[in-house]
Amino acid sequence: MMVHQVTPMALSVCHNTWAAEIIKKEVNIPVIASGSITLPRYGEEIISSGKADFIGLGRPLWADPDWALKAKEGRSEDVRPCIRCNDGCLERTFYFYRAVSCTVNPAVGREGELDIAPAEQSKKVAVVGGGPAGMEAARVAALRGHDVTIYEKRELGGALIEASAPEFKTDLRPLHQYYLTQLQKLDIQIQHEEATAETIQNENYDVVILATGAKPIPLNLPGQENTRVVHALDVLSNQADTGQKVLVIGGGMVGTETALHLAEEHQRDVVLVEMADQIMGDVGHSEAMVYFDKIKKDKIKVLTGEKVTEITHEGIIVQNKKGQTKTIGADTVVIAAGFTPNNTLSINISTSNNVEVYSIGDCVKPAKFLDAIHQAFHLARKI
Ligand code: SF4
Repeated sequence: MMVHQVTPMALSVCHNTWAAEIIKKEVNIPVIASGSITLPRYGEEIISSGKADFIGLGRPLWADPDWALKAKEGRSEDVRPCIRCNDGCLERTFYFYRAVSCTVNPAVGREGELDIAPAEQSKKVAVVGGGPAGMEAARVAALRGHDVTIYEKRELGGALIEASAPEFKTDLRPLHQYYLTQLQKLDIQIQHEEATAETIQNENYDVVILATGAKPIPLNLPGQENTRVVHALDVLSNQADTGQKVLVIGGGMVGTETALHLAEEHQRDVVLVEMADQIMGDVGHSEAMVYFDKIKKDKIKVLTGEKVTEITHEGIIVQNKKGQTKTIGADTVVIAAGFTPNNTLSINISTSNNVEVYSIGDCVKPAKFLDAIHQAFHLARKI
């Protein structure tokens, strides 16, 4: 039975192809498979294996209107992939009654007014931070003829690296790869070092785009220096291991996905603790629907309306709204309490250099990939 028509990334790609395959065996007319065929290689497999005669595309054409042309020309690596986030299309239209958009394609529906035109004057541009905002800004600026350098001390990808770690979020990996490919094709220089105000000044940049992302909000709880306390990002990037019984503090998107990742891929016993009355306040409706099913299937215990007051050697102490406290035991405590802008460099540069300086993405306000990519696109069109 088809429960999900506009499948979020937590469900398998080519989600309805099984139905096309069954129908094709019963009829003698052409059959079209559709639903989550995000990449050309999936379409090739469906047709070459005889599961269907044609494929139909919806969201992938919003993400990249030239999807079919690029596939036909053997340029699949240039296809900007739909990541099945539903943030720009389904969420905006169905739930917020706004005009359709697309996380990875800010110009969708407005192609006539949002073209990427050559710049009147080529400028020397530094992009500080190689996450989604930085990579998109660099891509668009370079397409316009600017001389672009990205400063990123670790590998390119930023928040895409940790966000794409769970197996139920692998749709983000082709987007990550798309950016790496495009930046390479555009000959954008990558400096794997931390940019400083001095670096920027010495290189005489005309424009500096700060896309330095966000950093975890410190909890400042008694006992948080305990060695069994780790951050969700370290768990997702495999830099921190956990014991069998894990407590995740924070039921937003990162906390919930970390809990699911630990339960599904590491078979941990997980308790998710959230101070608010509900979890996943920042997760889209279609994704949340799937996550609630997974939480049930994975036997993750969810505690809402519970405030963590202390981390102890046994686990954590929580307090409910009536002021009652209790201890919940755990081998490892994972912190996922949200993010705050990482904007130290912004303050230094804007006070010490005479260049055009802009800030985009999470270093302004932590939000979704849609916000970061759109801010980057619109800024890079104007510089
Ligand atoms: S908003 Fe997300 S799901 Fe919708 S078309 Fe764009 S990338 Fe795909």
